[in-house]
Amino acid sequence: ATPMSIMVAAGKGASLGVLFKNAEAIETLRLVDTLVVDKTGTLTEGKPRLTAVDAQGIDKGRLLFLAASLERGSEHPLAAAIVAGAEAQGVEPGKVDEFQALSGKGVTGRVDGVAVALGNTRLLEELGIEPGELRKRADQLRTEGATAMFVAVEGKAVGILAVADPIRKTTPEAIGLLHEEGIRIVMLTGDNRTTARAVAEKLGIDEVIAEVLPEEKADKVRTLQEEGHIVAMAGDGINDAPALARAHVGIAMGTGTDVAMESAGVTLVKGDLRGIVRARLLSRATMRNIR
Ligand code: ADP
Ligand code: MG
Repeated sequence: ATPMSIMVAAGKGASLGVLFKNAEAIETLRLVDTLVVDKTGTLTEGKPRLTAVDAQGIDKGRLLFLAASLERGSEHPLAAAIVAGAEAQGVEPGKVDEFQALSGKGVTGRVDGVAVALGNTRLLEELGIEPGELRKRADQLRTEGATAMFVAVEGKAVGILAVADPIRKTTPEAIGLLHEEGIRIVMLTGDNRTTARAVAEKLGIDEVIAEVLPEEKADKVRTLQEEGHIVAMAGDGINDAPALARAHVGIAMGTGTDVAMESAGVTLVKGDLRGIVRARLLSRATMRNIR
């Protein structure tokens, strides 16, 4: 396309809340046949709320205190939900040592000297902790679409925290419009398989790739590309950045992290996925004009 037509498209995009960083994104979007989307913060609001606290052999307030104290060291949206939930119940945080965030798994550390771990099944496996009876309860919460995390104290699983993240209001319409254009939609998430499926089913998403580690996201995009697909990837997190850079077109949520926006060719200012449909219209119009 000519520099002029690209400038015009970029200007129109900006007025519609779609920021193009480069000409390549405008040129390629019309050719996309597969959209890979992150779940948390992209399909959903990314503002999860604490919806359940289940304790086993420990006081509920104590469980929440230990979990929330630890999560103050994490920047994950799940952590923010747990901290806010505890604050709402008047829980004062304790002193944390040896804090560690394990990307895609959870957090560990000592709260007032007590060893605490909080995260998914993978984290428990890594620490050699059996979830026991709590596994069933976690599965149940996940079937409802919530993210269930185990809490272990001194190497023993003693509770579950559930966090639910509402689907963005604009997501169902965006999925519908993209399907009308014949685009296949693939959810790519680090979250549990059952939670991911519950959300995907609500939205009519074509394929789910769950329990993916952050460093594996870009590989999944590459595999789709090697199958001959023109792939756009939409995401919001630091963990999405390599996949956004890898895709033919990376699409960042303006409501997400700076790293995601820096890695993407397109930013949806308000995180409205319908912007992808608008961007494709501009892409088609621009490329038609030059012929
Ligand atoms: P997504 O790809 O959906 O944005 P992540 O890769 O960031 O998700 O995280 C995957 C999973 O790891 C979460 O669903 C959660 O179970 C666990 N996890 C990650 N960070 C934390 C944390 N700070 N506290 C508890 N659990 C966490
Ligand atoms: Mg995310």
